[in-house]
Amino acid sequence: MKFGGTSLASAERIKHVAELVKSYLKDNEIVVVCSAAGDTTDTLITLVEKARKGRHEEVEEILSGIESLHNGLLDAVTDVRVREDVSEAIRQQLRELRRAVLGITYLREATPRSTDYVLSFGEKFSTRIVSGALASLGVKTTYLEGGEAGIVTDSNFGEASPLMEVTRFEVKRKVGRLLEEGYTPTITGFIASNEEGVTTTLGRGGSDYTATILAYSLEADEVWLWSDVDGLMTAHPKIVKEARVLEKISYNEAIEMALFGAKGLHPRALEPAMNARIPVRIKNIFNVEAPGTLISEQGAPAGQRAVKAVLLVNDTAMLTVRGASMVGRPGTSARILDTLARTGINVMMISQSVSESSISLIIRREKLHKAVTALENALLGTGVVASIEYEDDVSVVAVVGEGMKGTPGVASRVFGAVAGRGINIRMIAQGSSELNISFVVKENDGAEAVKAIHEEYKLESV
Ligand code: ASP
Ligand code: MG
Repeated sequence: MKFGGTSLASAERIKHVAELVKSYLKDNEIVVVCSAAGDTTDTLITLVEKARKGRHEEVEEILSGIESLHNGLLDAVTDVRVREDVSEAIRQQLRELRRAVLGITYLREATPRSTDYVLSFGEKFSTRIVSGALASLGVKTTYLEGGEAGIVTDSNFGEASPLMEVTRFEVKRKVGRLLEEGYTPTITGFIASNEEGVTTTLGRGGSDYTATILAYSLEADEVWLWSDVDGLMTAHPKIVKEARVLEKISYNEAIEMALFGAKGLHPRALEPAMNARIPVRIKNIFNVEAPGTLISEQGAPAGQRAVKAVLLVNDTAMLTVRGASMVGRPGTSARILDTLARTGINVMMISQSVSESSISLIIRREKLHKAVTALENALLGTGVVASIEYEDDVSVVAVVGEGMKGTPGVASRVFGAVAGRGINIRMIAQGSSELNISFVVKENDGAEAVKAIHEEYKLESV
């Protein structure tokens, strides 16, 4: 069971989490994984930024904010003796954090490695407190950091990848043994160690990943990701009032949805679960009775509708590179993508017609000017590319569903519904996996396009 930051944002909530875990322990063995409390990770990122600029005073302010937040959370540890231990451990960790941050402040330099070290404290604090709250309820638990639990990663600080085979071996040896001895291990999400034992992190939202890595290694029966939403939904409820929680979806559908920014899921997190065929449940800590979303191999039974969910991706921009000389010339798209990659710009969507005279790309809006400058420098004047055009007021609509594969007529229904609202489609992409159809509209039309498709497929009804 992994608990997200919002479910640990107050002492009350942490108590609730501890009671919940205890209630499930009657019939289960559980490994508990915790995110940082509330927005602590964001706060730590700000802390690194201020330290790097040498802002002593602001650094001290942020540090005392972090300290008082966690002092408040200590109320969740109701047993006085346990609370003394936990609070001493946290004081010790706060000293370590302060030392690291002062180092950054003096040097005015933060490496990815030192940044990961600083970010790791969010999970260290919250997990200590949760384990104290569990111990206060008489649960036999023990606190472990990701590395101590056996999660070994490469040294790609900030977005490290687990070395799965070593990890599996180590986790079994360490956490597996604790389970056999009757412990309920409480483990920090998000953080791990490289082979030298240096702290790494798995990327933002990485606690989900920790949970599935542990589940894979321990051959768990299920992974439960507890957060503050009822599950993955057919559409964003702010756009479509009637949007519904999806009770069952497949791994592939969930990965598509995570990539398109559906709340509450780290895209890579599903890989280990999928490899080991371990079902993943998304549950709401504030609505424990609700079934949530079950992500598994089968998804919903066959015969259900082809389209499962419609997502809207905002804050995007469209780039179009044109040139008659691009036709039949190998390497043009490689040049374009290579230029963007070297500039650190992620391409979200690509489309090129068979005439090859233009190629359109979707990127994050904030990267637009960087992208245009880089492409102009690299491509104009080569004689191959005649123009680079862009629009910054577009949105991407993604229609997701495994049942689209091999079902004729989905595109016609989707685009028909959008056309019926008088909305113009600017760009289209569908991979041959047929798991999703993505298309681009003017930003002002985005919400309406989502509603049109939701209605066309009656996604509000089961
Ligand atoms: N605390 C980390 C983050 O905010 C990891 C997580 O929450 O899963 O990104
Ligand atoms: Mg978080």
